[in-house]
Amino acid sequence: MKQLKGSGFFRVLFKMNVLPIILLTIVITTFSAMRFASSMRIETKNGLVDLSHTVATLYDKVYEGDYHAVEKDGEVLLWKGEHLLNGDFGIPDAIKERTGIDITIFSRDTRISTTIRTGSGERVTGTTANETVVDDVLYGGHSQFYSSTLVEGVRYFSYYEPLYDAKGACIGMLFLGKPSAEVEGLVRSSLSPIILFGLLTMLIACFVTIRFSGRLVDAIRKMELFLVAIERGDLHEEFDQEVMERRDELGEMSRYLIKMQQSLQKLVEQDLLTGLYNRRSGEKLLKHVCEKYVQDKTPFCVAIGDVDHFKCVNDTYGHECGDVALTELSARMKEHMQGRGFVARWGGEEMLLVYGGVHLDRAAAYMQELLEAIRTKPIVYGDVKLNITMTFGLTEGNDEKIEHIIRAADEKLYQGKNSGRNQIVV
Ligand code: GH3
Ligand code: MG
Ligand code: MG
Repeated sequence: MKQLKGSGFFRVLFKMNVLPIILLTIVITTFSAMRFASSMRIETKNGLVDLSHTVATLYDKVYEGDYHAVEKDGEVLLWKGEHLLNGDFGIPDAIKERTGIDITIFSRDTRISTTIRTGSGERVTGTTANETVVDDVLYGGHSQFYSSTLVEGVRYFSYYEPLYDAKGACIGMLFLGKPSAEVEGLVRSSLSPIILFGLLTMLIACFVTIRFSGRLVDAIRKMELFLVAIERGDLHEEFDQEVMERRDELGEMSRYLIKMQQSLQKLVEQDLLTGLYNRRSGEKLLKHVCEKYVQDKTPFCVAIGDVDHFKCVNDTYGHECGDVALTELSARMKEHMQGRGFVARWGGEEMLLVYGGVHLDRAAAYMQELLEAIRTKPIVYGDVKLNITMTFGLTEGNDEKIEHIIRAADEKLYQGKNSGRNQIVV
């Protein structure tokens, strides 16, 4: 079979399958990544809030008493009960060591104890909180989470909690912070496998889709080529076995196509009454035999046979009886020609018989067998037994035109009819 053009198949495939898969993968991966990043931030926030409660409780347990501020030499000192918190790093350092979270104690807005250090390693005590934090926490009096707070050039996820004295005045703050870079780094490293998995899934889905659709289109193209061949009149075109054996709708359609081809063959090539080849196919087949003779001198013999006094059969027993007789005679001739050549209905009650690969003497012997098979076995029609005979004119094929060969056989038939019928004239 020759190949038809692709007719934009890959454009359609891309639009209908590959593009939606790519878009869907991008949407799903982006959505999952955003959800994941957001849940990491929420988790960080909750961690900071929980830890702040732990730290506050720890200060209460270790240093009993209330927070209170005392101003001395222009510096505000922050006490917890009997313990001065300015410059005391015990608890903050211990927590930082265990959790990696930075802790700062503010007296008012000033850092008096912290785990945060400058690039040169000094603690950033004495520095102040930014205005927003002071407004929200110190003056506003409520705890607050910030996703981005700048301390000495470093960005933090931070949580601030106000510290109160016995009278309920807000005199300081507790800060817990995790560098944003750490959280983002964690998000990035956790997202890479998700994105990689998404890409891999997309590639596999595209590959499977292209392969599957490719096979479908291939099967459809083969069906199309088969139909084109039938449309051109080639009723013996062979159909692809693999497509025909498919277990889907295409396989089913293919089987119907083959049935359609067989029905067309029957309609076009067969005679409806006798089931023999009709005259058109008879001529076509004889043409092939002649061509073979020209090619490699394969011998062949041609006979024209005619039922004797067939008009009498019709006139005496009716047309239907004539049909039955013709069908039965055809069946006998077809059986006789099995493996020897072919028989076609040439017209009315005349038949064309072609023996392939034999010379005249062998063909004459075969014909004699046929003549006997016809005349010795009556044809039964209801209660009637018909003794029917036929006359044949037989000639050996040569490289002359088909019409000449047929005419030669016809002339012999005519001689037979004129010299008593029920015989073969060679
Ligand atoms: P002969 O050939 O021996 O000279 O005599 P004949 O009676 O057979 O010759 P003729 O050609 O005059 O008659 C042929 C008859 O065959 C006439 C026609 O009605 C009949 N016939 C042709 N085709 C059919 C057919 O399909 N069915 C029936 N029942 N009869 C057919
Ligand atoms: Mg006749
Ligand atoms: Mg006739």
